[in-house]
Amino acid sequence: MLQVTTTIPATRDVIRKWKKDGYSVGLVPTMGYLHEGHASLIQKCREENDRVVVSVFVNPTQFGPGEDLEAYPRDFERDRALCESLGTDLIFHPEPEEMYQDPHAYVSIDTLSDTLCGKTRPIHFKGVCTVVSKLFHIVTPDRAYFGQKDAQQLAIIRKMVQDLNFDITIVGCPIIREADGLARSSRNTYLSPEERQAALCLSQAVARGQQIIAPGIASQTVIDAMTAVISAEPLARIDYVSVVDALDMQPVDHVEKNVLVALAVYIGRTRLIDNFLYEVAP
Ligand code: AMP
Repeated sequence: MLQVTTTIPATRDVIRKWKKDGYSVGLVPTMGYLHEGHASLIQKCREENDRVVVSVFVNPTQFGPGEDLEAYPRDFERDRALCESLGTDLIFHPEPEEMYQDPHAYVSIDTLSDTLCGKTRPIHFKGVCTVVSKLFHIVTPDRAYFGQKDAQQLAIIRKMVQDLNFDITIVGCPIIREADGLARSSRNTYLSPEERQAALCLSQAVARGQQIIAPGIASQTVIDAMTAVISAEPLARIDYVSVVDALDMQPVDHVEKNVLVALAVYIGRTRLIDNFLYEVAP
């Protein structure tokens, strides 16, 4: 039976009982407005754990000034129904006041946060690391599930877990896409029909990059080819197209080790991201 908690003590009570009974616990952190991408994480979590916790919390500390915190889509009843249909045991759905009393401590993994999305959104990953640390302490999961869609976030969480000795296994899950290739995102709801069509340039650029990437190739060659695809779309404005080391997120000149090829593009006022990993055989 699906339970919903809104406070930290009530959540801890539920988890404590489960742990006493010897159940393993998996956590899927989300900001709600759930879609197929979230569903894939919840399904994997369901397969691998005795108890499944989904957090639904639009985390204010990961939004910068002028970003879409207020506008971010919310529909808790729909989220609850989806979670129930996927066999979720507990939704933790706190208000911001339950999670933060100002002033409060932050967690930040600066080394991986100064490139890609961290450049345009300087406080974003500090907010992500802070809320994920708090969720880890509250839920104490055995495993936590994150999407490859937010590849830099996943790399930062892995590093945080390693550096701060969280006894939690981080499970990365593949990007789930619409039938036409667009990566699923709660922010896709902002797109007008015309912008929705234009947004296809992200996945098309990814496909172009995957076509031409090869061991030893200059990163700029890959970036130029992908940039050409996006530049052909009048409604698109590039934030970045980058080739970075898959572990430390720093730009590389040539593809000589495993890399993340990542991009962020504004379609009208909506900022969308996409990426692919490329593994160079040893
Ligand atoms: P969000 O609610 O956007 O914060 O996302 C919650 C989790 O779902 C994060 O770990 C995301 O990476 C993951 N996620 C979001 N969209 C997708 C997608 N299209 N495919 C796979 N995972 C996703």
